[in-house]
Amino acid sequence: MTSLNSTMCVCGSQQNYADCCEPLHLAIQQAKTPEQLMRSRYSAYVLKNAKYVYQTYAINKQQENPIKEIKDFADSCRFIKLTVINSGHENNQEFVEFKAHYFYQNLYCELNEKSQFIKEDGQWRYLDGEIYPVADIKVSRNDNCPCGSGKKYKKCHAV
Ligand SMILES: [Zn+2]
Ligand SMILES: [Zn+2]
Repeated sequence: MTSLNSTMCVCGSQQNYADCCEPLHLAIQQAKTPEQLMRSRYSAYVLKNAKYVYQTYAINKQQENPIKEIKDFADSCRFIKLTVINSGHENNQEFVEFKAHYFYQNLYCELNEKSQFIKEDGQWRYLDGEIYPVADIKVSRNDNCPCGSGKKYKKCHAV
């Protein structure tokens, strides 16, 4: 079996997981930037590490985002990729805008969100985000898979 440690990180950074999001997931390192935290939260969703997603919510947001809901969402999605669009500083807030591409049932979804991050106890945490509406695409079994593989959906990401 190949170890996950020597594979590319699913956050799309083009780095090995062991050099990218894994030390954050294992709490060996802390995210240095909001973008790094956002990437590690995405990869935690992909790896179904609901606890990490929960712990990186701002403290006052944790109660309304229980681990079980995070886990149910992660379990119901087939994640494709993450695209970071922009990041920076605005109105005394750190933000990262990204697109998360995933399948939910037979829908292809692109979540386009501008997320706000704050530092609490010296750690970056996710506060909230503004979601830009992107229409979900209903995919049929004989359609080309929207993931870009060139295969039919039924031979690719269909369940
Ligand atoms: Zn990563
Ligand atoms: Zn596919």
